[in-house]
Amino acid sequence: MRPVDKGHKDKEYKPYTTAKRELFEAIGPYCSYCEREIEHMGAVEHKQPKSKVPELEYSWDNFLLGCVNCNSIKNASEINDSNINDFVWPDTDDTYHMIQYDPVTLMPSPADHLNEHDKARVSRLIKLVGLNRAIPKENTKNYLKASDTRVEDRIKVAADAKSYKQAYLNLQDDAKPAFVEQLKILVKYSGYWSIWMHELEEIPEIKDALLSCLPGTRTDYF
Ligand SMILES: [Zn+2]
Repeated sequence: MRPVDKGHKDKEYKPYTTAKRELFEAIGPYCSYCEREIEHMGAVEHKQPKSKVPELEYSWDNFLLGCVNCNSIKNASEINDSNINDFVWPDTDDTYHMIQYDPVTLMPSPADHLNEHDKARVSRLIKLVGLNRAIPKENTKNYLKASDTRVEDRIKVAADAKSYKQAYLNLQDDAKPAFVEQLKILVKYSGYWSIWMHELEEIPEIKDALLSCLPGTRTDYF
């Protein structure tokens, strides 16, 4: 999960939907949780739900961006000031290094290096937005409706990132800079930034490109 720095803004966003364009500018049009691209279907997401904590309905500090799947699963959550730190959040924690993905199933889990307290915080966030929700079995109604393709999308992007890496490593050195520029465009439209990063971060020039290609990426963790 890409850690982001959305900055602080004092003004009230009333109605809260008017914060969307500024959020897109600050952190890019991506779901803050699953990282899919959401330019045409994303919503302003309230970390502390507006139904439970109405005083934060218009507050920038309480905003992230959510896709329809992450938003609807999280909707009924009981998050408030007293338990918000029981979870990790992409705008306050190093969610890139705290979450690992299984190389085959692309299922997320708490990173091995974390202490038990932080593992529990990561697990709660994964559950909160259903990031590890299984792919429905083929030919069931939910599969045919393609109602939640987040894990499938991660698997596809990981395969693309592997192909990209192989192609990059086979290039002559003088062809590499232009290929890296193409990657920036690719990631911008594909979303799932951290899947690209996990696959490619060992190549320093690509790591630098990924850190700079989307707005609001929190670079001080890298
Ligand atoms: Zn999402």
